[in-house]
Amino acid sequence: MIIQLKNNIDKKTIDGIYHDLGTLDIPVYPVRTGNGHYLVCTPKQEFDIRKIGQLKGVADVHRVSGPHKLVNAQWKVGSTKIDFGNGLAIGGKDLAVMAGPCSIEGEEQVKSTVEQLVKNGVKFMRGGVYKPRTSPYSFRGLGMDGLKMLHRHCAANGIKIVTEVMEKEQIEPMLPYVDIFQVGARNAQNFNLLEALGKIDKPVLIKRGISGTIDELLHSAEYIFKNGNEQLLLCERGIRTFEKAYRNTLDLNAVPILKEKSHLPVIVDPSHGIGIREHVITMALAGIAAGADGILMEIHECPDQAATDAKQTIDYASFHTFMEKANALHALIRN
Ligand code: PEP
Ligand code: MN
Repeated sequence: MIIQLKNNIDKKTIDGIYHDLGTLDIPVYPVRTGNGHYLVCTPKQEFDIRKIGQLKGVADVHRVSGPHKLVNAQWKVGSTKIDFGNGLAIGGKDLAVMAGPCSIEGEEQVKSTVEQLVKNGVKFMRGGVYKPRTSPYSFRGLGMDGLKMLHRHCAANGIKIVTEVMEKEQIEPMLPYVDIFQVGARNAQNFNLLEALGKIDKPVLIKRGISGTIDELLHSAEYIFKNGNEQLLLCERGIRTFEKAYRNTLDLNAVPILKEKSHLPVIVDPSHGIGIREHVITMALAGIAAGADGILMEIHECPDQAATDAKQTIDYASFHTFMEKANALHALIRN
């Protein structure tokens, strides 16, 4: 059950509600976000929710069955729209494309990517400065210097930055430069990181774990929301299966299922999802057809020279072709 409290509620009234729920022996978890004030309740037995609705200070009560509460589609009227101002939003009517290199490599690369994004009307740039790598000897990103460089060029062109955060100590220094914090597949169940991201006022894109289930992804999102941040995006990026013909199995079934179960926007990452440059556009379009609110994609001026994930990175001409098809397809299925 989720109880939505009135915005102007005072402490005495809240204490009164706690007292009444206590007498009903209902465990209560208070959650306060930038948008609202909720009480998540996990009653052990059935009871009449009308009683709660009549309590002073309560705006609304929703019965939410199943393990996911705050991220569950059952209680929220309409789906979550993340607003970036000036008409830019994710989860509304527009398709959000987030494109850029796997890793930020240097000033020239950032400039050239931004130029392409502007040319194609793309408002979000991706680019990792903290890179999770299988081998400790591989390139691990430019860190804060790379992020500041990215920020300089993006801010000057009205482009929002999506970049991965790997540990909670990185959040504070990154905060002024990041528009959407990405939680990578390897950290999808790093609950300390998720809790820390629940305490900030910036959107979080959370990737499905490498062998993560849909249920686990929703639980990870629940961790962030429970800690006070409801600006969340769920990302399908492929899972590890027995199939070895491609890097990961992009599970597009997850798109309609996540949208049915949750009110959060769903993003598809076809680059990590298939891992083969030649098929990235096909799978991106398939993601849009499946109902994705956005696409996260790796692009590079010279894909073969990309410092990381070269094999799944597409060039600018292919990206332009993708954008034309994506816009046409999205217009077709939106209606
Ligand atoms: C990335 O986006 O470059 C990345 C490392 O993603 P993932 O966590 O999905 O592997
Ligand atoms: Mn990558």
